[in-house]
Amino acid sequence: MTLLIKNANEVITLKSVLQGPRIKEQMREIAVVEKGSVLVAGSQIVAVGAYEQLVIDFPHLVQEAEVIDASGKIVMPGLVDCHTHLVHGGTREQEFNMRLNGSTYMDIMNAGGGIHATTKRTRETSFEALYKKTMHHLDVFLKHGVTTVEAKSGYGLDWETEKKQLEVAKKLQDTHVVDVISTFMGAHAVPRDFKGREDEFVDVIINDMLPKVSALELAEFNDVFCEKGVFTPAQSRRILEAGKALGLTPKIHADEIEPYNGAELAADVGAISAEHLLVASDEGIQNMAEAGTIAVLLPGTAFFLRAPFARGRLMIDEGVPVAISTDFNPGSSPTMSLPFIMNLACMHMGLTLEEVITATTINAAHALNRGHQIGTLEAGKQADVIILDVANYKQLQYFYGMNHTDTVIKKGQVVVRHGIVL
Ligand SMILES: [Zn+2]
Repeated sequence: MTLLIKNANEVITLKSVLQGPRIKEQMREIAVVEKGSVLVAGSQIVAVGAYEQLVIDFPHLVQEAEVIDASGKIVMPGLVDCHTHLVHGGTREQEFNMRLNGSTYMDIMNAGGGIHATTKRTRETSFEALYKKTMHHLDVFLKHGVTTVEAKSGYGLDWETEKKQLEVAKKLQDTHVVDVISTFMGAHAVPRDFKGREDEFVDVIINDMLPKVSALELAEFNDVFCEKGVFTPAQSRRILEAGKALGLTPKIHADEIEPYNGAELAADVGAISAEHLLVASDEGIQNMAEAGTIAVLLPGTAFFLRAPFARGRLMIDEGVPVAISTDFNPGSSPTMSLPFIMNLACMHMGLTLEEVITATTINAAHALNRGHQIGTLEAGKQADVIILDVANYKQLQYFYGMNHTDTVIKKGQVVVRHGIVL
């Protein structure tokens, strides 16, 4: 099947000769083609440029193509949400309500809330019910222009449930149009029955869970919550090194609540990305810039918990490649709207309109080791393309709090038309 998206006001291509994630001023170079068209054959992009040029270069393909008129709109790569806790049981609106009524974190924990509440629900929820629930979440992501989603396990904390979460993600990768890329995060919390025996749980992850994840090919990445009272930097390093030896690429939830040298550890252990970084130290940021570690920043979490935002502006200025993601999860960021999160990154982390586009396309793709395949609109790349009902890209954040997604094309197929999932 051949598709021609024609006459867009702007095509945001992010085309570049650069191979790796974008840093500093590269993050502002989004390579806009005005009055542009995009030609797609099968699942790939054939060419991007002026319609008149495409007719000359590809006369047969243009002639047989189904035409989508994008006049008055803009076209850009499908958004990549590179950090989510996609597969989980239940919701926690009750805790949110408690917080609004003045309850503290400890009140909520004592009432049986927090991550352990979701762990309980995820353990209790059947594979089929989790699959159905997550399928619906993916439809909502898709409606918001997201064509690739990372999915972490970590609400099981026992092998049976961790495996169930990863298998739900794997089945969705096979059955849903959105690409679902899996991360094992058995080290998301210390289970209650291991309290005081944290090192023993680390041993379970290393000796039991990680080898199974690897043997069953259930994940590409291995993530750890390195935080005071959760996993120490030393324990986190052990888990990440063990995963690395089994072919799992390290990621790390670092410096979210208290500074804990998480950014330093991410750089040192060769993590592809470090996430959150709300209180990352100056030195940690320097180390990440030198190592090329991607900072995956999650402004929705700071917004929803009323916490200070990560220093995104400083990180970009210091040369850290920055990506932005929802952190979709039932406790601290229950949103599937990456466009809203992009707005928060501009308003509260000081990203520019161009930087936030780079942070949710090509840099997010690199954070998932997919930079060669998605995240830009260039000949040879996978045809993950979205059409947005705004006159230019600057309006994306100007008309805030709205979903501008009109059409979504995934691997060359139209999967959302006029905002409706087909
Ligand atoms: Zn997270």
